[in-house]
Amino acid sequence: MENKSDFGLIGLAVMGQNLVLNVESRGFQVSVYNRTGSVTDEFVSAHPDKKLVGTQSLEEFVQSLARPRKVMIMVKAGGPVDAVIESLIPLLEEGDIIIDGGNSLYTDTERRDAWLEKEGLRFIGAGVSGGEEGARKGPSIMPGGPESTWDVMKPIFESISAKVDGEACVTHIGPGGAGHYVKMIHNGIEYGDMQLICEAYSIFKAAGFTAEELAAVFTEWNNGDLESYLIQITAEIFKQNDPETGAPIVDVILDTAGQKGTGRWTIMNAVENAVVISTINAAVEARILSSMKEKRVDASTQLEGPKVELSVEKAALVDKVRDALYASKIISYAQGLDLIATTGEQKGWNLDLAAIAAIWRGGCIIRARFLNRITDAYRNNAELSNLMLDPFFKDVLNKNQQNWREVVALAVSNGIPVPAFSASLGYYDSYRNERLSANLLQAQRDFFGAHTYERTDKPRGEFFHTDWPEVI
Ligand code: NAP
Repeated sequence: MENKSDFGLIGLAVMGQNLVLNVESRGFQVSVYNRTGSVTDEFVSAHPDKKLVGTQSLEEFVQSLARPRKVMIMVKAGGPVDAVIESLIPLLEEGDIIIDGGNSLYTDTERRDAWLEKEGLRFIGAGVSGGEEGARKGPSIMPGGPESTWDVMKPIFESISAKVDGEACVTHIGPGGAGHYVKMIHNGIEYGDMQLICEAYSIFKAAGFTAEELAAVFTEWNNGDLESYLIQITAEIFKQNDPETGAPIVDVILDTAGQKGTGRWTIMNAVENAVVISTINAAVEARILSSMKEKRVDASTQLEGPKVELSVEKAALVDKVRDALYASKIISYAQGLDLIATTGEQKGWNLDLAAIAAIWRGGCIIRARFLNRITDAYRNNAELSNLMLDPFFKDVLNKNQQNWREVVALAVSNGIPVPAFSASLGYYDSYRNERLSANLLQAQRDFFGAHTYERTDKPRGEFFHTDWPEVI
């Protein structure tokens, strides 16, 4: 090997391999290493025309890199990341950079950041979105870590990321775990988007739409406000038939979904920060319920529901469901961004919500036309307290709310589960109500636990207690 490589990557599973090919395609020479050496050999020999350097030991890998070394780790999140870092530390030199591009928990990233700083190494926890295709053609990248390390990595990150309107889908998110944190919430939002689409589908399915009709609806939606990667692939899914049976493939696929860490972590973080993310919550819970297949099959023979009667004209139903989906999607993003803003403030990360929305416009699974609107909303008002109150989104919600209610009512009265549509509407109605029912709640708390309450006719911050009657 004559020249040292510009970049190194450890972990040649699906994401790693595609990222390597992406980086190489931008003119960089890339060294690669994988724990199972045969994977490295197979990968390098499958791409003889590329500037790849396959290595069989970490020593050889590290020695093949130009300084400051830029080492990206793309291995399974959790213990494997620590194991790789542990082995790298004695081999790297001061100022070298380790980038963890996996879906690591942001608190792990904070711990590794402090650990590597003590070792004189630089660390970037970077969320990489877009799956296999994004990794190969251009992902959305959410890097955290110090500004000075970002400056070194910026040219490579910008060249490999997706581009929208000439802008690279990467920005320095903030210090420490900020990048992985934002990627975690991005994944939670992705859960919400997917579940909302599935609920729209379940209503259409109950109304007797064929796969062909569904493909037409989603194709049409993809030409409007809902234009997005997920709507686009949903239209394609409905067009696909199963080669074995000839039936639409969607009808053959079992209705049980799995979930990995990020959705669950998002919910746990929201609870810790007292931020409501009911749409994402409903989406994660919907996956959990879906996975309880045997229990659901058993319950289906025991628990009754209404007879499904959707006597709505199909074209009118399409319009109403579109409005409900759009409104619910706005709520899901409003909640996710509220969580990001709240945590960002608490951590002192100085997050730029406009820049974050902008880098989600390309490369990632949640890419969508409406992210331009979100970017504009925060560019117009960085202090926006909730996305729902941006003038554009406020108008959409005010215009769509009637159809949204009708869709939720229709689904509920027909026994069609729409937990994310309903949770979104519940949030909207709670948020917009000047007076909720928590007055009664406070009375109950004061009754059994002397928790005290504030009064409507006295200044805030003054607390009162009532001598309630004794109850046996
Ligand atoms: P993965 O299945 O999560 O991990 C497999 C890779 O990790 C293999 O290269 C494996 O090496 C290596 N590995 C596992 N344990 C190891 C250990 N103890 N020491 C060293 N190497 C170890 O791979 P992936 O799906 O490509 O994902 C990589 C990361 O990107 C993950 O954090 C994932 O969550 C994240 N991510 C994935 C996607 C996606 O669509 N797949 C999208 C975004 C982000 P061996 O070959 O030796 O087993």
